[in-house]
Amino acid sequence: MLNLVLFGPPGAGKGTQSEKLIERYQLVHISTGDIFRAHIKDQTELGKQVSQIIANGNLVPDSITIAMLEEEIKKNPQAKGFIFDGFPRTVAQAESLDVFLQSIGEQITGVVALDVTEEELKQRIAKRQELSGRADDAADKLTKRIEEYFNKTVHVLPYYEGQGKLSKVNGIGEIETIFDDLTAIIDKY
Ligand code: ADP
Repeated sequence: MLNLVLFGPPGAGKGTQSEKLIERYQLVHISTGDIFRAHIKDQTELGKQVSQIIANGNLVPDSITIAMLEEEIKKNPQAKGFIFDGFPRTVAQAESLDVFLQSIGEQITGVVALDVTEEELKQRIAKRQELSGRADDAADKLTKRIEEYFNKTVHVLPYYEGQGKLSKVNGIGEIETIFDDLTAIIDKY
């Protein structure tokens, strides 16, 4: 299996690149943000539990997120591999993912981090808000999300660096150029 973690701050372009990568490598895309939004839209129990947390730009508790992610993996027993987008966002999530993958005889193949400056991120998300209308794209919520990223999520990078699995790609530039940089790394796995 090819199991990739696509890593980066809010607005880094993970969603855009994931769409292209799943097509190229025939992988299953697991975006925890997208799954949470689907639950909220469908007003499931889980959706009700997390909607306020997400609207405020906070991270959903690890226990909830990890359980949901494992369910998603189990739903796809035929998958050739997965792209994890927006997960893991904490070291505890990264550790749980390793334990879970091991239990099914799998592992993370590699982690690619999209490097984007904070200034560029704010501009992109402001633009996206006009189109998406996502409540958590509002300026104060966005600040909170970027804070969550720098407080909790960046610590995931040294975790994977320690495993020798981390690569970085410049996330500013043409979508196609960034995609080429990503595939150059993935093709070497
Ligand atoms: P972004 O566009 O900021 O990268 P996502 O669409 O990935 O955001 O996620 C939106 C929100 O969903 C996050 O701000 C957070 O509240 C919640 N969320 C998504 N993935 C996780 C996760 N792995 N752990 C905790 N919360 C998460």
